[in-house]
Amino acid sequence: MPDDAPLYDRVALIGLGLIAGSMAHAMRRGGLVGEIVGTARSPETRDVAREIGLVDRVVDTPAEAVAGADLVVLCVPVGVMGAVAEEIAPHLAPGATVSDVGSVKRAVIDAVGPYVPEGVHFVPAHPLAGTEHSGPRSGFAALFDNRFTLIVPAEGSDRDAVDRLAALWRGMGAYTEEMDADHHDLVLAVTSHTPHLIAYTMVGVADDLRRVTDSEVIKYSAAGFRDFTRIAASDPTMWRDVFLTNKDATLEILGRFTEELFALQRAIRTGDGDLLFDYFTHTRAIRRGIIEAGQDTDAPDFGRVKTE
Ligand code: NAP
Repeated sequence: MPDDAPLYDRVALIGLGLIAGSMAHAMRRGGLVGEIVGTARSPETRDVAREIGLVDRVVDTPAEAVAGADLVVLCVPVGVMGAVAEEIAPHLAPGATVSDVGSVKRAVIDAVGPYVPEGVHFVPAHPLAGTEHSGPRSGFAALFDNRFTLIVPAEGSDRDAVDRLAALWRGMGAYTEEMDADHHDLVLAVTSHTPHLIAYTMVGVADDLRRVTDSEVIKYSAAGFRDFTRIAASDPTMWRDVFLTNKDATLEILGRFTEELFALQRAIRTGDGDLLFDYFTHTRAIRRGIIEAGQDTDAPDFGRVKTE
């Protein structure tokens, strides 16, 4: 293949929200593929996608979208991946690759794998990048820059198909690494899923409190709480599906979290300042590690521009 040849001649994006939209922008930015075809469930989303020219061609059904595509990426909530795979299966081109961007991997492999026909490659993946926004207008080309995309090859995935998909993600600005599905789900339960649940809970607690203290929770919302509210504004469908499909790993991490919380609660009650100080010193080092790995900025308030 010549160096400037597209990695794929036709990419079909099923679902046209934050992740699919960002992929479309990033693929165009890098001149990585030939045609990008897309579809979404609702006529409203398809109309917006057409109006803003999100992809080269918007079609009305997943079957039309995947016809003749050499890469199909499922960019829908995890809970509907299996149904979408069943719908597209008879229309997939021989030799095509089917991938997805779901936040949970074992459940997606179990739901989609059985529908992938002989002669079609299945290479699941997960970009570790997102925002609290969703929908066809929310994507942007730089979303994946310097973020990891984990490639989670299903059993027997074709090596060339895996390598080509990884090359596409690197072309979109991401670092890539391969990981086993169960390990992926445990790591994400620690780094993303449980923190989201904690944020949802904390905002729920504050909402309860708001009834007591009127609007003070909002008026004086300081950085800590404000960051929780941003995370807790994430798409309800996506996050419902994450917890329903990554149940075991999330429950395991929540169990550990609860134990630690009780230990800290006890330290507060008994006035054990040494324990609290040592604990917070240790956690500070983890933050330093993330900054050193280039995965966040150490600018005050996460580099946000002050609006007040
Ligand atoms: P999103 O902005 O809400 O977009 C979801 C898209 O899926 C929409 O176009 C929606 O169509 C379509 N869709 C929903 N249900 C469908 C169904 N039953 N059949 C066909 N299409 C359907 O979501 P997103 O943030 O891009 O998330 C997509 C996937 O990426 C999810 O699996 C999520 O776990 C994963 N992911 C998300 C993030 C993140 O931070 N957001 C990060 C990494 C991975 P309509 O608009 O017509 O409803």
